[in-house]
Amino acid sequence: MNVNERRFNLILADFLPIAAIATTPGAAKVLLPVCLSIGADLWVSESLGEIKGSQVYSGSLREHIAHIWSQYHGFIFGLATGAVVRLIAPLLKDKSVDPAVIVIDENGKFVISLCGGHQGGADRLARAIALSLNATPILTGAANGLGLPAVDLLGVPFGWNKGAGDWTKVAATIAKNEPVQVIQEVGSTLWQNHLPKGHPFYFEDPENQLPSTNYQLPKARIWISFTQRRFSPDSDLPKVQWHPRVLWLGIGCERGSSKKLIESAIQQVCQKYHLAESAIAGIATIDIKADEVGLIEVCQEKNWPLKTFSAEILGKINVPNPSTIVAAEVGTPSVAEAAAICAGLEMTGKMLVLQDWTNLLVKKQIFRLEGERGAVTIAVGLSEKEYSDRTGKILLIGTGPGQLEQMTIAAQMAISQADAVVGYSLYIDLISPLLKPGQIVESLPITQEVERAKKAIELADKGLTVAVISSGDSGIYGMAGLVLEELQAHGWDGQVPGVQVFPGITALQAAASLVGAPLMHDFCAVSLSDLLTPWSVIEKRLIAAAEADFVTALYNPKSQTRTEQIAFAQQIFLKYRNPTTPVAIVRSAYRETQEITITTLEKLLESSIDMLTIVLIGNSNTLVHGDWMITPRGYKVGVIEYSDF
Ligand code: SAH
Repeated sequence: MNVNERRFNLILADFLPIAAIATTPGAAKVLLPVCLSIGADLWVSESLGEIKGSQVYSGSLREHIAHIWSQYHGFIFGLATGAVVRLIAPLLKDKSVDPAVIVIDENGKFVISLCGGHQGGADRLARAIALSLNATPILTGAANGLGLPAVDLLGVPFGWNKGAGDWTKVAATIAKNEPVQVIQEVGSTLWQNHLPKGHPFYFEDPENQLPSTNYQLPKARIWISFTQRRFSPDSDLPKVQWHPRVLWLGIGCERGSSKKLIESAIQQVCQKYHLAESAIAGIATIDIKADEVGLIEVCQEKNWPLKTFSAEILGKINVPNPSTIVAAEVGTPSVAEAAAICAGLEMTGKMLVLQDWTNLLVKKQIFRLEGERGAVTIAVGLSEKEYSDRTGKILLIGTGPGQLEQMTIAAQMAISQADAVVGYSLYIDLISPLLKPGQIVESLPITQEVERAKKAIELADKGLTVAVISSGDSGIYGMAGLVLEELQAHGWDGQVPGVQVFPGITALQAAASLVGAPLMHDFCAVSLSDLLTPWSVIEKRLIAAAEADFVTALYNPKSQTRTEQIAFAQQIFLKYRNPTTPVAIVRSAYRETQEITITTLEKLLESSIDMLTIVLIGNSNTLVHGDWMITPRGYKVGVIEYSDF
């Protein structure tokens, strides 16, 4: 990625391309900044003349929309809702394929999610745009009010595919809060652990033949499996199925086997064993088949990965049907079965050299097709973990000192858009109004920073968008460094998972704002925590700061076990600065328990100081006026040196 592009918001990137349409100057004025911030194309009517940053369409809007309809994932209209409804009505097909359609009024007060709310992502987009415009999002889907994940979005974070079923009826049952039975055979169960209290789902253990103790007569059923279930049209019970991508097709074939033959073989295997094609993760084969045209074409068309393994690795797998002919030809007694097993195990992260084939679902089958070249052998392996083609993202978010209003809009947007939120429990509580139904929230104790970083990376590796919460700024004694270090240590290429850092107001700014302008001149920050930094280094920095007359912010000044450091720091500063130098002690800035003391360097220890406190030591010119602490900027009146006011 070009570093310049980092100013665009990573979280909305998956919506692009988006088209915005304005027919009046007012609408163009509202839409232009939105388009700039999310990277959308703004189309304006010819009659508006040239508007910088926009593209002009001529002729009828109806024709123009019809022309560009299939080119965009989302549309933002600056038009009356009635007009938009009439324009798009003939173009809508089905909610599983329709784009997100948003309408914004001319004053930019309301952002309406009109169509494609769930699967098109219009609700998510409307929420994000509303936040950036300080407008009201208007979402009318039923799941929004219940704090429940929408059934048609449930598997999206994990890369699952939607299968057959009556999605509308099941969604309606959930909206009525009637019991919904969930039978989950495969795929991540993370979503189950983060449902709100009183949710209507109950879980049947697919292994257990007896109904669970909390069995209720279901009013709807959700299957999460790799099986293709055929639902009887006569059944009253509405059902849907999600397919986690857990099936690996191990394929061996004669050189030149056609795409048609391979497809037909896959279809036949799926039909015979009742496997859902949507549950296929990809194809696995031997490395010498990496250029096999038919295989490549099938993978491209289906958007499947093609995994290859060397004969040496495949040869180590003990398979049910080894062949001496195959061994003589390619150097391993099995391609299809061994590759299916290897691919499944690799996803699960297990050792490849396993002497059993418990994850082999279908043993090898051979297919030929009249009139088509070649022969194809297929075996099917089952992976414990689903494959996801989503690229994980880690959003490193600074939430500011306390209340939500001290947090940037970009940070708020990032939290509400993430699939998962990881943070220290106290900070998670502070941001809880931003959390949305269905999000996976991992709140971990304060001491477990490294675990939090690891957890975030683990979730991002599954393809999730993960928000990692730090108080203040994430890059100042926060989680940003930890996560980036952890990524770097594990061979990160700088691209996957994608990373974006969202700045926040750090404690020194928050504290300074509460006492006046103490940081008005050169300043520095020193953390007194010697848990990770040796005291000798901290001491050296304190001496340098004191000597050079920096205004100094002391982070982590004192804890229950570290009580001496603040007194040492005071002694160092007293060597270089006047005992009456103003000092501000700010505890829990912008939180309910906020406490502010303005004192002096010599009296510093008389105030209570703890881990929720930051200490600001003035420089030799800092003064106190009333209860305001001011560090002079240093200009003589009438002489403006820099244009930074
Ligand atoms: N990333 C944070 C700092 C984390 S280190 C930031 O940018 O602000 C934790 C230390 O920050 C605490 O020991 C305390 O010194 C300071 N701190 C964090 N939030 C604070 C607040 N609301 N009021 C006062 N000090 C705070």
